[in-house]
Amino acid sequence: MIFSSKLVEDAVQEFSRLPGIGKKTALRMVLQLLRMHESEVDEFTGAVSRMRHGVKFCKECYNISDSDVCGICVNPGRNHSQVCVVETIRDVIAIESTQQYSGLYHVLGGILSPLDGIGPEQLNISTLHDRVKNNGITEMIMALSPNIEGDTTVYYIARQLKDLPVTLTTIARGISFGGELEYADEMTLARSIAKRLPIENYVNLGGK
Ligand SMILES: [Zn+2]
Repeated sequence: MIFSSKLVEDAVQEFSRLPGIGKKTALRMVLQLLRMHESEVDEFTGAVSRMRHGVKFCKECYNISDSDVCGICVNPGRNHSQVCVVETIRDVIAIESTQQYSGLYHVLGGILSPLDGIGPEQLNISTLHDRVKNNGITEMIMALSPNIEGDTTVYYIARQLKDLPVTLTTIARGISFGGELEYADEMTLARSIAKRLPIENYVNLGGK
């Protein structure tokens, strides 16, 4: 792609860094910005910049938040004895969109994958034990990918929590979670949370 403006070329380059945005789409976006009023473009870039500088990760659940603790964690109307463990923030957004889950979350920030060099220390796992112990959490719902990495992660967490009186459950499988969860329709997702199953077998299998 040959540009007559280095400024436009730079902007196209920046947009094409985003996932799913090729050079052609980036160019379309940049040309649209050129058609907008300067003040509108300032609002646009300002929102992006404020978001990047201002967004925090909740110190309880690692969800995105504008304050130290997120709106879900501080909401007294939520069920604080129930925590849904997910891989990514996108999973939280997908489950929240079902409007069928009223517990809290714990965002791992990924999944155990030794082959990719992702161990427990790369994820938000070490705080789980204390969170369960100190906050009267009685159920942890595992909503992780239905694959070897997901099973490994569930097994690892089950081992970590085995001295605590918490029931571990897993969502009904049949839809892909973690990254793909956002594409599941809300009815399917809500049903798979409602039809969750106990997973004490993981501990039993691993304990031997
Ligand atoms: Zn939170």
